[in-house]
Amino acid sequence: MNFTGSNILSVEQFDIDSIQTIFTIADRMQPYARRQKRTKVLDGAILGNLFFEPSTRTRVSFGTAFNLLGGEVRETTGMESSALAKGESLYDTARVLSSYSDVIAMRHPKSGSVAEFAEGSRVPVINGGDGANEHPTQALLDLYTIKKELAYHGHGVDGMHICMMGDLKFGRTVHSLSRLLAMYKDIRFTLISPRELAMPDSVLEVLDQAGHHVTVTDQVSGSSDADIVYQTRIQQERFTTPQEADMYRGKFRLNSEIYTKHYKPNTVIMHPLPRDSRAEANELDNDLNQNPNLAIFRQADNGVLIRMALFALTLGVADQIEKYECDVNWYSEKRTSY
Ligand code: ASP
Repeated sequence: MNFTGSNILSVEQFDIDSIQTIFTIADRMQPYARRQKRTKVLDGAILGNLFFEPSTRTRVSFGTAFNLLGGEVRETTGMESSALAKGESLYDTARVLSSYSDVIAMRHPKSGSVAEFAEGSRVPVINGGDGANEHPTQALLDLYTIKKELAYHGHGVDGMHICMMGDLKFGRTVHSLSRLLAMYKDIRFTLISPRELAMPDSVLEVLDQAGHHVTVTDQVSGSSDADIVYQTRIQQERFTTPQEADMYRGKFRLNSEIYTKHYKPNTVIMHPLPRDSRAEANELDNDLNQNPNLAIFRQADNGVLIRMALFALTLGVADQIEKYECDVNWYSEKRTSY
């Protein structure tokens, strides 16, 4: 895949080689993310960071990634503070904002909206989540995390067993991650959710066609040899009423007791975050915070590396990162997790 000048809209664009290219560059970003070195490779470049739906990690890590490469970030958050609220089309917004930026990261509540926006854009557009559809950069950081965590336990992605749990219908992260994992070999998927929130058929078909072994269930069972448990939040913003979401909150929890009962001692625990920590939901309990298998914060840290790699690739500077390197002048804490 030729990344320079390309949009990143869906995981379907990638193949194993292009994923490996992204991961190799993400590895090279570690000294900059750890503040051991700086690079000014994107000095003068502008990121348009457009978030029309709530976001903490994705929005801030896109911005941080761009800053770490030496670029500037211009941010628009919330539909109500943009001209979309005045009826402007995505095409017009894209046409205008793309002349103010060198690359755009965008999140929007409607499926397909980021691709529609990209048609009007004159610069690369990176999908930061379009409704319940896709979240390709999250899937890349999830896969990068899975690879690293499993490598620590001495194995790889092919042949692994992953349990995905929670809202698999509206959770865009599990849609994109499943499609990405489908490119690997012999994966066992155990998909645990209330029946009404099961993984969409379109995703199941992809897994089936690629020959993976899939179990769809509404019981926490058959997980005892899982390598990864990937918990998700009930996506309340996708339901017609909050009361409807209440029916499912707290149905599939993960805490120390449940983990010990249903999973082997080194099953890696992942969650795209935010975890809903309200008592009625509490899908991933704080009592797991000290468990070394809890990878959620390492996972979030990896988001910066992946997004740095995507900026370097789409803006065609991946071979110049070290050339623009300089020292860090300020005191900086030793960071290990990147
Ligand atoms: N942060 C993820 C997303 O934007 C997961 C979530 O919100 O539950 O899809």
